[in-house]
Amino acid sequence: MLACIPTASLFGVDADPVTIEVQVHAGLPCTTVVGGPDATCREAKERVRAAFASCGLEWPNKRVTINLSPAWQKKRGSAIDLAMAVGILLASDQLPAGSVTGYAFLGELGLDGAVRPVVGVVPLAEAAAGNPLVVPAGQLADAQLATDEVVGVGHLADLVRALRGEAPWPLPMAKPAGRHRSAGPDLADVRGQAIARKALEVAAAGGHHLLLTGPPGGGKTMLAERLPGLLPPLRPSEALEVTKIHSAAGVLPDGTGLVSLPPYEAPHTTASAVALIGGGSSQLRPGAISLAHRGVLFLDELGEQRPVVLDCLRQPLEEGVIRIHRAVGSATLPARFLLVAAMNPCPCGEAGNSRCRCQVGERLRYARRLSGPLLDRFDLRLHVPRADPDELLGSEAGESTACVAARVAAARRRAAGRGTTVNALVPGSRLDEVAPLDRAGRRLLADLLARGGLSARGLHRIRRVALTVADLEGADPPLTEEQVGTALGLRAELAALQVAS
Ligand SMILES: [Zn+2]
Repeated sequence: MLACIPTASLFGVDADPVTIEVQVHAGLPCTTVVGGPDATCREAKERVRAAFASCGLEWPNKRVTINLSPAWQKKRGSAIDLAMAVGILLASDQLPAGSVTGYAFLGELGLDGAVRPVVGVVPLAEAAAGNPLVVPAGQLADAQLATDEVVGVGHLADLVRALRGEAPWPLPMAKPAGRHRSAGPDLADVRGQAIARKALEVAAAGGHHLLLTGPPGGGKTMLAERLPGLLPPLRPSEALEVTKIHSAAGVLPDGTGLVSLPPYEAPHTTASAVALIGGGSSQLRPGAISLAHRGVLFLDELGEQRPVVLDCLRQPLEEGVIRIHRAVGSATLPARFLLVAAMNPCPCGEAGNSRCRCQVGERLRYARRLSGPLLDRFDLRLHVPRADPDELLGSEAGESTACVAARVAAARRRAAGRGTTVNALVPGSRLDEVAPLDRAGRRLLADLLARGGLSARGLHRIRRVALTVADLEGADPPLTEEQVGTALGLRAELAALQVAS
């Protein structure tokens, strides 16, 4: 008899539907798996065989052919174990015919018959589209994010009893609430630093990438950590998209439900290119830049990052995706993040004062390592000096995250009202329409251009930032000289940042 059982296989952040076809027929006892399995899929039959023995189920003493359909598509991972087990049981008449019609199955089998969690259950559940869908018990809540009718099982023996009608199904749990991530550190903790606080607010409101330079101990990391809290919560479709990515990366603890707040990723300087960009030899796993999708990516010590890593950042910054090509296949992973980067002005970090011990050559090499085009992507560039002790001790707490986030949300609503997503993405061709300048503002920029202090691309960036400044003030364009001046103040010249060079 032939059994066809739907399941799914993960690749990148998406999954493909797969059907497990099992045929048991007369012949010498032997089991063959065909249809593009990777090593893990090929081992599935050994796990299933051992699980059968543990549960007192019978492995057919005949010829068993297992086809993973469609055959042209590579299958990866262990999520197909459970469907394979059910297929063999059905094809060998150990389950009543018709008992699994419409069902789909996801789950890895342990040798003892336990149904174990799988990486990427959210995208897998979406692709498997069974009705109902059977998943590992611990991942019931996550699978429910993608599809409605889900049942969880903890053990193969329980599943067989339920399908035979000998025992009831475990009850599905209630839908999980949004993930309650701690709200993150509050902006009120940052004392002084008025310009840096303003830059954070503008970055959050307009989606402008932010570069912070300055000596160690200036609070660059402290500022970056507070940026996600200023961003609006994710919309339901965005939350599901982000949850799928985190699920596919295997970083979503089971049962946490939807990721509803913008993520924050701060990969370590020594992180490998794969950890940062994504990839891997068997599965194409999303890296930090995809985990930061719709949130904030913080890259510390930008000057210490390897050039290959910096080069890889260009495509996501431009297109919001990263295309990965490996021997196992190619995938396009989402990667639209707000980038905050920090760097020391020179290797020792003390450039500009007498404590700097770097040689001139060292400083120049350090400055040259960052390519001009990458630095040009930052709409906001700021020098963060070491905080003044009087300010740290004397001044009162700054405005709280909630206050600033409310202004950011209002500014984003104004941008949405013009039919744009965020100001940083307004095309240059639309700037005259959405960000016209008043006479004084125009003169200020014209002077700068005439003196060679601004490139054409830089001019566009200044106008976008000035538009965000106006949105935060609740003012309609034309943009004034003051708003343009604020934008100029938030985009320091590179020469001023690299004091040493
Ligand atoms: Zn130095």
